[in-house]
Amino acid sequence: MARPAPILPASINPSDFTVATIGSHSALQILKGAKDEGMRTLVICKEGAERPYRSYPVADEILTIPDWSAWDEKLEEELIKRNAIIIPHGSFIAYMGHERVKQMQVMYYGTKEILEWESDRKKERIWMEKAGLQLPKVFEKPEDINCPVIVKFHGAGGGFGYFVVKTPEQFYEVKNRKYPEQNDFVLQQYIVGVPLYIHYFYSPLTKELEIMSFDKRYESNADSIGRIRAEDQLSANIHTSYTIVGNIPVVVRESLLPHMFEMGDRIVETSHECCDKGLFGPFCLETIITRKLEIFVFEISARIVAGTNPFVEGSPYTALKYKEPMSTGRRIARDIKQAIEAGRLEEVLG
Ligand code: ATP
Repeated sequence: MARPAPILPASINPSDFTVATIGSHSALQILKGAKDEGMRTLVICKEGAERPYRSYPVADEILTIPDWSAWDEKLEEELIKRNAIIIPHGSFIAYMGHERVKQMQVMYYGTKEILEWESDRKKERIWMEKAGLQLPKVFEKPEDINCPVIVKFHGAGGGFGYFVVKTPEQFYEVKNRKYPEQNDFVLQQYIVGVPLYIHYFYSPLTKELEIMSFDKRYESNADSIGRIRAEDQLSANIHTSYTIVGNIPVVVRESLLPHMFEMGDRIVETSHECCDKGLFGPFCLETIITRKLEIFVFEISARIVAGTNPFVEGSPYTALKYKEPMSTGRRIARDIKQAIEAGRLEEVLG
């Protein structure tokens, strides 16, 4: 059962609040953005991971815990005392798990319910279909495979263990040899094209959808295989994996932008059919773009993605819109700040 929501502080002064997150993923950017907006900041670190948050002076306070399992009511009380507002990011959700996030009493920026939609592949697909996005075909069973498919095991962090096959026979050969015990997988049409991650922001206050930036990922060893000739690839018996090492900024063909704005609009519109408050704040559509410039969406992240990290000082797109450097982290803090000042804080909390 969900714990009762915290009583919101009556203050309309942003300096009475603290922007907080856990030390990983996009924390540096989030905290820097909050400081740029004149807010107090706090980072919760796992013991041993404090160094970057000491070296880069973006956190006014560092709280350390031995392990994420040590996140307890006492810690939450400390956060509540400071009027902390938690900003979720990929590591936060991965370490805490949805159930614990739902139970948290500390103020939380974003919609908690939407996390269930983005984390469940079936629900995520229903949502994206409703939004009319172009999706890779999904095959119900291996016997149906009739084109190259990417086999994705559930919970395979970093795309580890994904493999590509183009016939049912090939599928069973790899599956039975390497993953005999694993039966929770999806078979998705493999799209030949370039991966591109679109970073959006939607504010419930301004009701405006913004495209903040784009990135592509730097993945090991998908990005290294091409560095050796095909013959050597075969003899080295390399299996493609997609462990993220970093993110690379991208600027897209300008003629793609109108469609990308529409895609974002439709995801926000249809999110209200998923849960009352819908999706707001930062989110990302993970796409593959083909040579015919078709945009296939293979995943949605309903929170800030680490691909926004190259843009701590803003992106070419935010430079067009804002007079000051505007990162996604700073945009979040600005949303919170404007909500506090307008007495509408509840509207941006989940
Ligand atoms: P998660 O975000 O759920 O932890 P992940 O991002 O590590 O997972 P995916 O997003 O599922 O893993 O994909 C990993 C890699 O596989 C990405 O680099 C993406 O480009 C590639 N990929 C995923 N789906 C497809 C597809 N349908 N066609 C071609 N490439 C794909």
